[in-house]
This record gives sequence, structure tokens and C-alpha cells, in this order.
Amino acid sequence: MLVYKFGGTSVGSAENMIQVSNLIVGGESKIVVLSAVSGTTNSLVGICDAYFAGDKQLAEKLVEDFRPKYDKHIFELLQEQSSRDQANDLMEEKYALLKSFSVEGFSEIEERQIHAQGELISTKLMQLYLEEQGVNSALIPALDFMRTENGEPLYDEIEKRLAEVLAQHKGVDLFITQGYICTNEFEQVDNLKRGGSDYTASIIGACANAKEVQIWTDIDGMHNNDPRFVEGTKAVECLTYDEAAELAYFGAKILHPLTVLPAKKKNIPVRLKNTMQPEALGTVIGPNCDTSLPVKSIAAKNGIVAIKIRSSRMLMAYGFLKNVFQIFEDYQTPIDMITTSEVAVSLTIDKTDNLQSILADLRELGQVEVDEDQSIVCVVGQGLIEDSTIVSRVTTALNSLKVRMISYGGSANNISILIPSENKNEALNLLHSELYTTSLV
Ligand code: ASP
Ligand code: MG
Repeated sequence: MLVYKFGGTSVGSAENMIQVSNLIVGGESKIVVLSAVSGTTNSLVGICDAYFAGDKQLAEKLVEDFRPKYDKHIFELLQEQSSRDQANDLMEEKYALLKSFSVEGFSEIEERQIHAQGELISTKLMQLYLEEQGVNSALIPALDFMRTENGEPLYDEIEKRLAEVLAQHKGVDLFITQGYICTNEFEQVDNLKRGGSDYTASIIGACANAKEVQIWTDIDGMHNNDPRFVEGTKAVECLTYDEAAELAYFGAKILHPLTVLPAKKKNIPVRLKNTMQPEALGTVIGPNCDTSLPVKSIAAKNGIVAIKIRSSRMLMAYGFLKNVFQIFEDYQTPIDMITTSEVAVSLTIDKTDNLQSILADLRELGQVEVDEDQSIVCVVGQGLIEDSTIVSRVTTALNSLKVRMISYGGSANNISILIPSENKNEALNLLHSELYTTSLV
């Protein structure tokens, strides 16, 4: 069994959906996970915001805005009147559902139900197309088997339910299902957070003991630097699970950071492929990727807030850091980078919804300084610790910039540098020329 996942752009037009069908029909058995048509989930979020703001009229207008796009999509994708009718009926049902909520008491449960509609639509359209083409495929509802508790997938339960669902379709070897959506411990519709379809694919891969999980998107793999800001980047052939997790977390937009976890549990390779350029090798994330290449990729993440807590109480004392960490735990805010000296600790967060309360509590412990609009630039590779020249080359490359923090040695494959966001592009380019122009590659 293989698991393929296609992102929003890959299903974003009739032409692209047809290309997806070319990639999935035939060959080995597959479970195909689809995202919502690109832009759809953002619009659904907008609709919920309108309901929360008490503006039902706006919510209804946003629902109507879907029409031209989906009308075109359906008309171009499906040729037979009966399948067009089915698709149009589906959309009418969805529009009616999306407009059916009332602003009074609009709740997060209803919000999640709305967020789920994008994947329900895209998978149904794909299935209608495959049926029209005479392909023997089955649409399997993710809500029947993707089960979470406290936001975490219940692997045993999913494995059992998925096997049951698959067994209902004897003789079928192509299954279409929704990414992102799931049911939670209260039997409510829930989701795996934005971008979660990749995670779905990996969870299904682990639960179906897949040979490989393939994430098909609109770029030919994970690049050795951010192609949006740096020229001449190229796809990295092979990454370890840990390297890929660091890169995804620290800004490589191509992959949801949690995707590697389920695959890693079962040693299943995750291959990143380009829907529009299927012949490109892409990137493999997997168990046999410990190459000696010291630097494999550079990524950056914006929206970082740096906090420094200074206190003479820290000097030769213990327990101080525990108190600091407790505050972040109280507000369920993860810390990304941390550096300490004897009298101060600097750390970064990117979840800022409780920033003011966190700062108020920290001020009880010492003097607090805050820097917003920071970026973490992260250099990832296996040999960063063994090859001691790399860290000096990284800092030398950035010596014209205002480096605020450096984290090195936390893991064997990562150097993280905190800089003001306005310098991010420059930093990525400086590191690119320094690290990839010599014998390192
Ligand atoms: N449709 C969801 C989103 O836009 C999930 C996904 O695409 O991965 O976040
Ligand atoms: Mg995505």
C-alpha cells in the first residue's frame, strides 16, 4: 500500500485534478489524501470569523463568493450531465449548510464543522471524476476512522477502523479520503490544525503500514534554502526524519512539522514530489538518509518574539529556570530557542496570544526585555557538530547583521540564529553563498 497526499494547488483547478488522476490511477494500491481546493479553507475561516463577529450577511456573501470558482471547476472537470448534476447538488447542499448557522451562540464546534467542508468537497469532486472515467475507486470518509483525543491521533483505533473501512471495498485498490479532518473524543468533527493534511497522510501511512508516503505539492522537494527569497536553490535528495522535522518547524513551508512523527515511528519513507513535474526526483525523508553532507538546508521562520529575563537571583542559584518555564507552561506556550548566562535567560516564542500575561508574570521574577519582529534562521545538517568550521562560517557570514541569539549544540543537526525579521532575506542569502559555494556541496 502507498499513501499519496495532494495539496490545495494540486486539486485547485480541473486541469490539476486531472493531472492528479493521471498520477494515482494504476500501479500499486493507494490511499489518496486530498486537501481542500486552494483558498477554500481560508474562505471557510473567513466565514466563521463573520459568524463570530455577528455578521451573518457577510458570512452569506462569502459563501456566495465560492460559486464562480466551483462552477468553473465542475464544468471543466466533469463532462457528463449526470455527474455535473451530482456535483452541483453537492455544492448547493454545502452552500445551504454554510449559510444555515446563526450568529447567536455560534460555537467552536460549529466552526470546526465549517472548516471541514473544503476537504469534503474536493474529495467528492475527485471521486465523481474518477467514476466518470470508469476508474474503480472508493471514497472513504476520514470521519469514519481518523480519531483523535486531546488533539493527538489514536493510532490503534485508527488502524482498526481503517482496516474495517478498507475491508468494505473488496476488489478496490484506489481509495480517496480527506486530509485534515477527524473526529475527536466527543464524537465531534475536528481537525488536525491548518496544513494538517500532510499529517493525515503520515498517520494513515503508519496505520496502514504503507511502503511509502508521498506528499505531492507544487515544488520539487524540500530545497536547500528558501526558494522564495534565494536564487539558485535546489531540492535536497535525502533528509533524516529529524532534519526534516527541524526544517518544517523552522519555516520550510512544504511540510507540516508533525508529518514526520508517524512515519518515523514505523520507519516509513516520506517522499516529497511535485505534481506538475512528477519526473523530478523530489526529496526523500527516511531512515537511510544519514549522509555526510554537513549542511543540507537553511530555513527561516518569522513572527518570533524574543524575551530576556535578567535577575541577580539567578546567580549561583537553582530553581530559577524552573519558575521561568512554569510560566510558559501555565499559558501553554512552547519555547523555541533558549540561551542562558549566569544572570539572564533569553528565549523565543512564536505563539503570542498570551504574551502580555506571560510578561506580567515574568516581571515578578526579574527585569524583562522584549523584542518583537524577529526571525529564526536555522541551518540543518548531520555534520554541524563534527565539522567545527561550520559554526564559525555561519557566524562570519552574518557578521554584518545584528544577531540577537545563537543556539548550537541543542541537537546535533541544527544551528539556530535569531535576527531581526528585516534582515532575514539578507541572512538567507549570505548563508547560501557562504555554505554552498565551496567543498561543502
Ligand atoms: N485545507 C487545510 C488547510 O488549508 C488543510 C491542508 O490543506 O493541509 O489548512
Ligand atoms: Mg500544505
